[in-house]
Amino acid sequence: MSQENVVCDVLIVGGGPAGSAAAAQLARQGRRVLVAERQRFPRFHIGESLLPASNVLFQRLGLESFQTLEGSQT
Ligand SMILES: Cc1cc2nc3c(=O)[nH]c(=O)nc-3n(C[C@H](O)[C@H](O)[C@H](O)COP(=O)(O)OP(=O)(O)OC[C@H]3O[C@@H](n4cnc5c(N)ncnc54)[C@H](O)[C@@H]3O)c2cc1C
Repeated sequence: MSQENVVCDVLIVGGGPAGSAAAAQLARQGRRVLVAERQRFPRFHIGESLLPASNVLFQRLGLESFQTLEGSQT
């Protein structure tokens, strides 16, 4: 990112699941959101399972098609 001044309503530090989900929701509500992430994505991150309770959140985030593409079983 360049050193120019950046105007945003919300600055989120960290683009993991929590930060990116919050950013997506805020952006959908019309907020100008900037996510500052120190790592280059895709990053290595251990994880291989999802709790069924996560499905409600995925639906709210509009990520059902992602789950289907990845072959997750719900
Ligand atoms: C070994 C392990 C296995 C796991 N397996 C599973 C699993 O199978 N299924 C599952 O559902 N969950 C799993 N989890 C839990 C899951 O990884 C976490 O619940 C989830 O990643 C938390 O998301 P988060 O956004 O809060 O934090 P994180 O995923 O940690 O994201 C935080 C982000 O903030 C960035 N950041 C931190 N400090 C700064 C800074 N100063 N400036 C800029 N960026 C910064 C980091 O680079 C990171 O990308 C596992 C966790 C671990 C440790």
